Amino acid sequence: MIKGQQALQQLIDGNRRFVSAESQHEPLRVHARRSALTAGQEPFAIVLGCSDSRVPAELVFDQGLGDLFVIRVAGNIVAPSQVGSVEFAAERFGTRLVVVLGHSSCGAILATLEELRQPTERQSRNLRSIVDRIRPSVQGLLSAEFRHDADMLVQHAVRANIRASVDHLQHGSQVIEQLVQHDGLLVVGAEYSLETGVVEFFEGLPG
Ligand SMILES: [Zn+2]
Repeated sequence: MIKGQQALQQLIDGNRRFVSAESQHEPLRVHARRSALTAGQEPFAIVLGCSDSRVPAELVFDQGLGDLFVIRVAGNIVAPSQVGSVEFAAERFGTRLVVVLGHSSCGAILATLEELRQPTERQSRNLRSIVDRIRPSVQGLLSAEFRHDADMLVQHAVRANIRASVDHLQHGSQVIEQLVQHDGLLVVGAEYSLETGVVEFFEGLPG
């Protein structure tokens, strides 16, 4: 299994191909790969991304069948089932990179900001459970200097939510914490731009 840093480089290279429309995944190759994968999988990266239809991880990183173990949920939040999925893949397949992939203009973030400004009783309990996971990391921004600048507020909220998910994954699971400390598991945040197609990985990456 490849190391976290190498996996990260593969995603960076893949996103570059996506942005310049130079995909390596023609239908014929995908077809051949399907048969090769029946015996098992060895995904080189785990991606926890948003369900937004405009941000499919395999496409934006130009990866094929069997390459990515993808968990998608509105707002790329971290609840127990997401933690469990990451634990499962990291332990079972030896995958050494986890990317929390948020994106610009995320609807779940917009809904949370709206709810904070104007709480409504009508929201379903289920939707509320998503908003409640996003709320703690963004509510402080409503007293920031830029709070009246709608675009800036959303930008900061998207990033704060990605960082909160990274933090939650790193510290909300003993299994993941152990893998980070002793087995070189990397957990990093990244933001996809709907406008440019570029994935920007956050600073503070090791190595
Ligand atoms: Zn989203």
